[in-house]
Amino acid sequence: MSLEAQYDPDNIFAKIIRGDIPSVKLFETDAILAFMDVFPQSAGHCLVIHKQATATNLFDVDDGDLTALATAVKKLARAVRDGLTPDGIRIVQFNGASAGQTVYHLHFHIIPVYEGRDLSAHASGGPAHTQDLEKIAAKIRAAL
Ligand code: AMP
Repeated sequence: MSLEAQYDPDNIFAKIIRGDIPSVKLFETDAILAFMDVFPQSAGHCLVIHKQATATNLFDVDDGDLTALATAVKKLARAVRDGLTPDGIRIVQFNGASAGQTVYHLHFHIIPVYEGRDLSAHASGGPAHTQDLEKIAAKIRAAL
């Protein structure tokens, strides 16, 4: 997918927004959905998306929707910090397949980093068990 790719309304995050496929949700508003990444790079890896903005990447989104996303990213990162007490947190956002993007609905990754533990590879390996994601999500939700 190039940086100029058209938005596909059947991408996997659009399906999650519609409830066509399940997700472990952290919080949801009229505009924003935050949920656990099912192929986590570390314990607590989660994602923030806009529910109405049909943006494949950073260049498609209008400034108001981007502001809503950034505000939600900060709120969720704070909850990850307080709920999971990692040593650091990466905020990541990929644009285009060449950069590593695999889902073409604009999103921000929040990836806790724990000293002495390597991050898993991006978007690979087997999916995490829902029960395990739910246990971590409960700690994040409690810190929101
Ligand atoms: P990116 O490669 O930046 O587009 O990131 C897409 C992210 O979505 C990856 O970290 C995947 O692990 C994650 N992902 C893919 N499918 C799902 C899903 N069904 N539920 C939650 N996260 C997903």
